[in-house]
Amino acid sequence: MSPSNIPGPRAAFTATAAMRAILAGLAMAALPQASRGLDGVGRVDSGAALAGIALPSPTDTTLAITFLDVGQGDAVLIRAPEGQTALVDAGRRDIVPLLREMGVDGIDLLVATHPHADHIGGMAAVIRSMPVRFYMDSGQPHTTATYRGLLAALEARPEITYLEAVPRTISLGSAEIEVLPLLPRATTDLNNRSVALVVRFGSFTALLSGDSEVQQLTHLVGRGVVPAVTLLKAPHHGSDNGFTWPFLEAARPEVVVISVGRNGYGHPRPAALRAYADVGATVLRTDLAGHVAILGYEHGDFGVARGEQVAAVMRAGGGQSGSEDVVADAVVGAGSAAGAPGGVSAADSGADLRLSVYADAPGNDNRNPNGEYVVIQNLGAVAQAIGGWRLCDLANHCFSFPAGAVLAAGATITLYSGPGRSDGNRYHMGYRRAVWNNNGDTATLYDERGAVVVAYRY
Ligand SMILES: [Zn+2]
Repeated sequence: MSPSNIPGPRAAFTATAAMRAILAGLAMAALPQASRGLDGVGRVDSGAALAGIALPSPTDTTLAITFLDVGQGDAVLIRAPEGQTALVDAGRRDIVPLLREMGVDGIDLLVATHPHADHIGGMAAVIRSMPVRFYMDSGQPHTTATYRGLLAALEARPEITYLEAVPRTISLGSAEIEVLPLLPRATTDLNNRSVALVVRFGSFTALLSGDSEVQQLTHLVGRGVVPAVTLLKAPHHGSDNGFTWPFLEAARPEVVVISVGRNGYGHPRPAALRAYADVGATVLRTDLAGHVAILGYEHGDFGVARGEQVAAVMRAGGGQSGSEDVVADAVVGAGSAAGAPGGVSAADSGADLRLSVYADAPGNDNRNPNGEYVVIQNLGAVAQAIGGWRLCDLANHCFSFPAGAVLAAGATITLYSGPGRSDGNRYHMGYRRAVWNNNGDTATLYDERGAVVVAYRY
């Protein structure tokens, strides 16, 4: 993304509360220009507005939510399948080098959940260093030099459109970000007015809510706005005031990421870690894993990358390669298998296919069969009909591609082990348990006559 690719509304930015209300209105009035095909843009005071942020860019298959390892603090990078980027908080220090390492050179939506230094300390540097289209916060000022520095950086960038965090839905490519209702300002403190966001991409759902504590979590549950989620950012760095049982029962996360570093608060607290384990969630911590990227698939599955893998995954476009799930990857073209690493045999089908097996699902493989999958890529220049072809493991778990199935030139298809709906790009074997053995297996693709096209042993 480059600045010239960012058409859209322009509104002067100013920091005063009165002007903010006016500017929020301006921003909403201007949004239809940027919302391609989205109707129903509401007035900002309606409490329910639909804002579109739509930029053309290459498509991908995953929503990437990356928890940058910024020590004690939060910086969560969201990248839509089409490449649009949101950054929720920016850590305590300058994270611009880290963003560049992740391949980020512009931010479509920048969110300050609340004005504490471990969330906004690095934000002014981001605003000064790269294009930012929209900036959102709770509308609540603070008295610190860090906060004043953030306001000064915003005032120097009048092209950034201010959005107040009122309930509304923002389109980020094919993902949606829903802003949840905040408690009234007079009734609570900064942590409990953290901007809370539900991020959706198909059936994949994530909840991010800054440093919200019991009061805000109780408010959200009471309003009925906490959905069942795939991913939960642990509120308040895994503090024991950052969860309630009704909240966790509503959210039922499959994976919890705790953004935490060395701190004097005892974060994450044992009670919170136990609670996340008790609801069956996989728990990942930035202080132990480094950066943590959760790659969300449209049908609700997710993959995980961590540490040094994350930058490679992000720079590659958030796809599957580079994920820790990669255990096998081989290219075996027709007639070339004899000496190809990992190659077993190949029939003379003329196909030039790459087979990759992602055998190790996050968590327990047998409880997450769609966390493991095989990717088949057509490296050839012509489309390959694969109707009637079969892919099998050594234990004769097989999948037959339906009649008429085609793998276009240069395209990939993904075959998940678990049940689900197949759509021509993604197929499901329909097994309730893991298929691919993590300790070694062989994936073999047979054509309609039963001849081996490509195989890989790992
Ligand atoms: Zn914090």
